[in-house]
Amino acid sequence: MLIINHSQVRELLPMRNCMEVVGEALSNLARGEGVQLLRSGLLRPDRRGVLAWMPGSLAAGRPFGVKILSVVDNPGELGVESHQGGVMIFDPTSGSPLALCEAGAITAVRTAAVSALATDKLARPDAVDVAILGAGTQAGSHVEAMLAVRPVERFRVWSRDSDKVQAFAAEQAARHGVAIEAVADIESAVAGAGIVCTTTSAREPILFAEMLEPGMHINAVGASIPSWREIDPGVLPLVSLFTDRRESLSNEAGEYIHAVEEGLIPSGLVVPEIGEVLNGDHPGRTAETEITLFRSLGLAVEDIASAQLVYQRAVEGGVGTHVDLGG
Ligand code: NDP
Repeated sequence: MLIINHSQVRELLPMRNCMEVVGEALSNLARGEGVQLLRSGLLRPDRRGVLAWMPGSLAAGRPFGVKILSVVDNPGELGVESHQGGVMIFDPTSGSPLALCEAGAITAVRTAAVSALATDKLARPDAVDVAILGAGTQAGSHVEAMLAVRPVERFRVWSRDSDKVQAFAAEQAARHGVAIEAVADIESAVAGAGIVCTTTSAREPILFAEMLEPGMHINAVGASIPSWREIDPGVLPLVSLFTDRRESLSNEAGEYIHAVEEGLIPSGLVVPEIGEVLNGDHPGRTAETEITLFRSLGLAVEDIASAQLVYQRAVEGGVGTHVDLGG
């Protein structure tokens, strides 16, 4: 088995290549190829984080595997990444383990790659003004992802800590050679933006109906467990909602669950999956003034497809550490 660490994963998984493989995995999944179970998890006894595991398989003849993650509540204080763990993939013929790839790097890139695919299909073609809410790992990878699909002319970023958001804006601007403005409040970030990415660990809503504008596209990335809500449920009746997986949406997305319970949206709504849009089975955006919202929950097939690409490139390049597990 090949062990591939964080910096090696980052090196071997460029955003555009990741977009190709996760797009293929999501298209296949929407056609009924591949297997995807809901995420499972346990709250640690000290209530300071969760252990989560996400099993899945790509289409027949392709690898299967599992992502195992420890997510701590206070990564900033501890000086660690928010998502720590591994993605383990297996050979579909022999059933033997192929690779264990560092999960934080895969999660950072594959999540933003899926948002990039959604943005490309759902945002207006002339959307070049981007608001990023949050200044952590996902915020950073979403800057890169949005640049991959639109010639962004203006980035505004908000986060709750003004020093952190200033530092984030300066670092990302230098990395990508673009202007990034740190702003003091969410309203100033979102006003006039064609694309909004919500990438915080907020447990209570930060994006409300009155902040929406005609033609906007939103990538809603944070709050992956049902008791958290980054988006106010009142947003949902006003938007055309898309997701990565309907089953994940109805089991994991707090604002969606609340909106259904409160009767804000019908319980029988068939929310299109982004794989269906990629396959041409759903048209995506149909009007300039339509407000689209892609609710990302994160799927194991995205991790496994990314890990397969990382593994292939690591083998080709002689990267990683071989471990003989025996057995
Ligand atoms: P980070 O810890 O790196 O960043 C989190 C950001 O959220 C920081 O800017 C933090 O600010 C901010 N934040 C934390 N609490 C609040 C709050 N109460 N209100 C407003 N902002 C807050 O995490 P990641 O970037 O890795 O993940 C961000 C979110 O995305 C999480 O909710 C995570 O679960 C989710 N996620 C979703 C995935 C998907 O597939 N959909 C995949 C991976 C992550 P500060 O620095 O001040 O603490």
